[in-house]
Amino acid sequence: MTTITVAKGDGIGPEIMEATLEVILAAGAQLRIEEIEVGEKVYLAGNTSGIAASAWDTIRRNKVFLKAPITTPQGGGYKSLNVTTRKFLGLYSNVRPCRSLHPYVSTKHPEMDLVIVRENEEDLYAGIEHQQTDEVVQCLKLISRPGCEKIVRYAFEYAKQQGRRKVTCFTKDNIMKQTDGLFHQVFEEIAKEYPEIENEHWIIDIGAAKLADTPELFDVIVMPNLYGDVLSDVAAQITGSVGMAGSANIGEECAMFEAIHGSAPRRAGQNVANPSGLLQGAIMMLNHIGQTAVAEKVQNAWLKTLEDGTHTYDIYKEGVSSRKVGTKEFARAVIANLGKKPSVLKPVSYANSAALALPRYKRRLSAEKVLEGVDLFVHWPGAEADDLANELRALETKEVKLSMITNRGIKVWPDGFKETFCTDHWRCRFQPGNGTPMTKEAIIELLTKAHTKGIDSIKTENLYSFNGKQAYSLGQGQ
Ligand code: NAD
Repeated sequence: MTTITVAKGDGIGPEIMEATLEVILAAGAQLRIEEIEVGEKVYLAGNTSGIAASAWDTIRRNKVFLKAPITTPQGGGYKSLNVTTRKFLGLYSNVRPCRSLHPYVSTKHPEMDLVIVRENEEDLYAGIEHQQTDEVVQCLKLISRPGCEKIVRYAFEYAKQQGRRKVTCFTKDNIMKQTDGLFHQVFEEIAKEYPEIENEHWIIDIGAAKLADTPELFDVIVMPNLYGDVLSDVAAQITGSVGMAGSANIGEECAMFEAIHGSAPRRAGQNVANPSGLLQGAIMMLNHIGQTAVAEKVQNAWLKTLEDGTHTYDIYKEGVSSRKVGTKEFARAVIANLGKKPSVLKPVSYANSAALALPRYKRRLSAEKVLEGVDLFVHWPGAEADDLANELRALETKEVKLSMITNRGIKVWPDGFKETFCTDHWRCRFQPGNGTPMTKEAIIELLTKAHTKGIDSIKTENLYSFNGKQAYSLGQGQ
């Protein structure tokens, strides 16, 4: 018997949760259920995180959380509970299987059967954003070695466990050489530990195009958070319906399971919603807690039900479907099929699908880190980079010289193009002229001088090398 936390959510949430629990309990799931309240009511009662402290206690105690979709109220101040939960609980891996059920669910991609493994905690989702000048705002993209190692290893271990043949990595490291570059590099490192599994890397733009056009080329795809967020919806949708896919959010301690769709408020309370997405999430949960035989029984009964043509409105199609049913009737049809297997669709076997046991991340020895310069960002409303350079020259010391100015990353001094459009946000690079390391004192002196001379410095970024390798980007055109 496993105790799980359940949240029935908003909109269609309560109906699809009821249907899901009815099916898995009928199949013999050994569960004790503790229910918590999260979402709209909690938000509107004045809690901007959508969850009360006591509910966190329940989630952390039980460690396994089955969550129906919730409605995040429109308007300022309400934080997404999904993002908060994933990050607070360290749910670093988001696993989204996307499989076509041709010919029973209409799709342009009958052969598709892939799994997206999305990094779930970092990237632009750190939500660290600032306005720095009148014209420029920024969002920090943070990618860490532990984040990359954990998700890439998870993808390979998952592929190994599930007997999948290939892991593909998508990044944009031709542009983001540090952040996406690290993700790609870690992928190459870890891939070597799994010689029996094919590996490949695609630049995200052509990778995404191929995914939308020929998804049957892919098996397991691992990618950073933002790309995974977008592409897992694309992948689920092109199997025929976003309403059919579930997702597992896995951490070292806790796990959360859900449908990938939202609370569909316009369909709420009408007994029409398709409970399949949440049921898929629940099946992944049963595997995670080791109740794999029950998970298998439910999945095969679900496939058989779809094969019988018993369909909810969202996938109902004249000539293919035999019966249009509501949420409750669909659940009952699945229950009636428990113990049966599909005859055309491939039945599943989950004998080896229990939770993966991954090694904990081990921090490496620190590298030798040398300060090689500093980027001083300034808010300057002028137009000519040469004029700014003249002002900045006054900040130079014997030790530190102005070496470059960029605007939105493109080099505008020295030797800029007059055609380059410039904003009021300038990156001004100062480095010791003679190849010697820079001191922190020199940065403080630079800032003090800038302040004295009325230059509006908005932030600095230190330029480091690690073990002799330059670890910052050059200006575009430098
Ligand atoms: P949605 O997924 O709720 O709905 C998109 C479309 O798909 C709608 O036409 C809807 O009727 C249909 N649909 C979705 N699930 C269905 C199902 N099970 N059966 C039949 N049809 C289904 O997306 P949305 O309209 O953009 O968002 C509605 C609300 O859900 C918003 O408040 C949003 O913040 C929230 N949301 C929550 C989650 C979550 O809790 N995980 C995820 C996404 C959106």
